[in-house]
Amino acid sequence: MRHLVTGGAGFIGSHLIDTLLRDGGDSVVCLDNLQTGHQRNIAHLIRDPRFQFIRHDVRDPIAIDVDRIWHLACPASPPQYQKNPIATIKTNVLGTLNMLGLARRCGARFLLASTSEIYGDPLVSPQSETYLGNVSCTGPRACYDEGKRIAETLVYDYQRVHGVEVRVARIFNTYGPRMAADDGRVVTTFIRQALAHQPLTIYGDGSQTRSFCFVDDLVAGLNALMQSSCELPVNLGNPTELTVAELAALIRDRLSPGLELEQRPLPLDDPRQRRPDISRAFRELGWRPQLDLAEGLERTIAAFEVSAVDATDASFNPLAATTAAQA
Ligand code: NAD
Ligand code: UDP
Repeated sequence: MRHLVTGGAGFIGSHLIDTLLRDGGDSVVCLDNLQTGHQRNIAHLIRDPRFQFIRHDVRDPIAIDVDRIWHLACPASPPQYQKNPIATIKTNVLGTLNMLGLARRCGARFLLASTSEIYGDPLVSPQSETYLGNVSCTGPRACYDEGKRIAETLVYDYQRVHGVEVRVARIFNTYGPRMAADDGRVVTTFIRQALAHQPLTIYGDGSQTRSFCFVDDLVAGLNALMQSSCELPVNLGNPTELTVAELAALIRDRLSPGLELEQRPLPLDDPRQRRPDISRAFRELGWRPQLDLAEGLERTIAAFEVSAVDATDASFNPLAATTAAQA
């Protein structure tokens, strides 16, 4: 089996590739423009003959022969995807079109990394896959939320019109080692601030909720979904819900008790609540997360402490890796 992982130098993509190469004779092509991903996430793979890195932007088409396409390419952190919102929409629309076209040509099974953001600021909780969402199409998050909604639309149009085999994972907040420390997401920001003994920045009054899933659990869910026969969208996340203030307290108590909390304005359209209903994932895939938040945070903090010392492998040079023209 030859896999294509777009966004494979990112946080989730690099963990996914590790699992694909862990056992058996499968090979992996990683396609990434390194916009928010990092060479250090795949540096340990670069000498594996079953692994190939192609620096490429999914907004441009590419010809390559593969059996499975895992389409993850897209910045996931709000500050990152809002930096250049038009580029984010193009990545979701043009990038998904290009990768679906490729899946059609190769007869590859296609998995989209969609998101809980397609539910917007939900009016029901927990969110099940049948909920149609409450999304602002004009706000600052729309480039991502509406981009992913269009990506889902394209997936199901390619399924109906061209018979492409599709899988859609609606991923809820995921965290773990290899998140970029400066990506602006809440778990990374709080850990980075606490390690530096700086105040934790809480947006709004901290009463908004999220449900955090450890990356190993999420990647197990992605693998189970790709292998399953389920063509419906599937929520993947950890249903344990907590407020942002509770998350701050957990990280502060673990790393730097007594640290101040600094209140900042709540960003526009920031969802008030988020919690996945994962009954479909359990029914269809037999999947549910295994690791609790305390243990997941321990592993993430440990990785951050190590990466503060040495995060890069100087022997890996992405410019020497295969270019799209050679592929
Ligand atoms: P990430 O930013 O670490 O990884 C995204 C990767 O995509 C990066 O390596 C980046 O360089 C690459 N990329 C971005 N635009 C590209 C383009 N135009 N062409 C080629 N490569 C491009 O984010 P992540 O957390 O690993 O997220 C991976 C996927 O999962 C994304 O599609 C995201 O929307 C989805 N997702 C993540 C979460 C989460 O909590 N981490 C939640 C919901 C959905
Ligand atoms: N948040 C916060 N302080 C920060 C970063 C984020 O209070 O320094 C809040 C943010 O407003 C949101 C939640 O934490 O309510 C999760 O934010 P994140 O960017 O991680 O992901 P989101 O689920 O919003 O995409």
